[in-house]
Amino acid sequence: MILYNSLGQTRQEFIPFNGNKVNMYTCGPTVYHYAHIGNLRTYIMEDVLEKYLRFAGYDVKRVMNITDVGHLTSDADTGEDKMLKGAKREHKTVLEIAKFYTDAFFSDCEKLNIKRPDVVEPATNCIDEFIHMIEVLLDKGYAYIAGGNVYFDTSKLDEYYVFGNMNEDDLAVGVRDSVEEDENKKNKADFVLWFTKSKFDDQELKWDSPWGIGYPGWHIECSCISNKHNGEYLDIHCGGIDNAFPHHTNEIAQSEAFLGHKWCKYWFHVLHLNDNTGKMSKSKGDFLTVSLLESKGYNPLVYRMFCLQSHYRKPLTFSYESLDNTAKAYDKLIKKISKLSKEGTPDLESAKPYIDSFNDALGNDINTSLGITCVYDVLKAELDDATKLYLINEFDKVLSLNLTAEQEEKALADNNGTENPLNAEVEELIAQRTAARAAKDWAKADAIRDKLKEMKVVIKDTKDGIEWHFE
Ligand code: AMP
Ligand code: ZN
Repeated sequence: MILYNSLGQTRQEFIPFNGNKVNMYTCGPTVYHYAHIGNLRTYIMEDVLEKYLRFAGYDVKRVMNITDVGHLTSDADTGEDKMLKGAKREHKTVLEIAKFYTDAFFSDCEKLNIKRPDVVEPATNCIDEFIHMIEVLLDKGYAYIAGGNVYFDTSKLDEYYVFGNMNEDDLAVGVRDSVEEDENKKNKADFVLWFTKSKFDDQELKWDSPWGIGYPGWHIECSCISNKHNGEYLDIHCGGIDNAFPHHTNEIAQSEAFLGHKWCKYWFHVLHLNDNTGKMSKSKGDFLTVSLLESKGYNPLVYRMFCLQSHYRKPLTFSYESLDNTAKAYDKLIKKISKLSKEGTPDLESAKPYIDSFNDALGNDINTSLGITCVYDVLKAELDDATKLYLINEFDKVLSLNLTAEQEEKALADNNGTENPLNAEVEELIAQRTAARAAKDWAKADAIRDKLKEMKVVIKDTKDGIEWHFE
């Protein structure tokens, strides 16, 4: 399989660290508002990548964070926390906002047939891990304390601008978004690991730390959460292109300084969806959401198909006119497929060249528009209906456009069966706590209780056993 790797900026053969196991990390949403359909373009293309890796036989573990603290309005270290801004806008607490928009995000994902990652972890669950990583960075001399904050010292690295082709001045913090320079920084590109002092003193969520009460910077969360769930070697990291700098550049700096070795092999960046006025943004007032498209009568999967019709490494411009064209093509396609007879058994031998063509398309840097062409080619081919249906079902495991009734049912079942992957961890901890109490190991039982509290789990002892729920 060939993938374009932003690290090196070339098309490269995809070879994971460990045989057919793939550790994949995705920067999750900042849950201060609804996702716009630009954000969702990125998640759709990442979903196709994950599903194609599985289709190609890889055993994928995909981890995603939820940014519920630390992402400031400038992407760098100045400005207000986006979460706090959202909370003020809606007269709610930050945690209420985080819960509401996390649920809204996954509801949009379901509508777009975007699979939930295997692990989803909110940043506020991992404060101890962030503190540990920052302590190690300080011990190793990669970080310093100034003006009450802890900073990463980019001058300690051999190479900081790892994605190349970027002009240092254009990228430098302070120039971007015309925000003010932070005088505590030793070097222009240094960034905050832990804040105790900020212009915005009314930060709602704060935690105790060795450097005083404060909150983490945005970048540290992805380094930590990936390290926690994917381990020391990451095969592939995804995100929108705007995340390449400073966010991903800083993640690499922190992770490699912490680990002492190279960390992530492949970087997959999705180019932006623009509207006719330029880049889509949530601060521009009205913005395009899945619900808005639905209210105008569009099936969300038409938007998925619209995204798949173009390559993820090209910017895409949204217009209702183009979406209407896709809607017509989608309806026609579904109609044609629904006419195929469900009787008979597929001829796998004749199907093979078509599977090969699909692999050639998707295996060539995720060429989704050619993947869709493969569906049309099958419909036109001299094959019996059972073989056609078999092939379209196979392709739809990756395209996820509900092209057949079978795929539609499967998508429905998957969505109904979606469960918070943290549930299993909570169940396990509760079982360990029960065992510790039975063994009168109170210290262990208390430690587990504290851990559950940190995970925002509320436990109730009832006559039928222990009941629990998230706060
Ligand atoms: P955020 O919720 O702001 O943290 O962004 C979530 C994801 O959407 C990140 O991977 C961003 O890089 C990506 N993103 C932001 N704007 C766009 C856009 N206009 N088109 C595609 N992806 C975007
Ligand atoms: Zn991230």
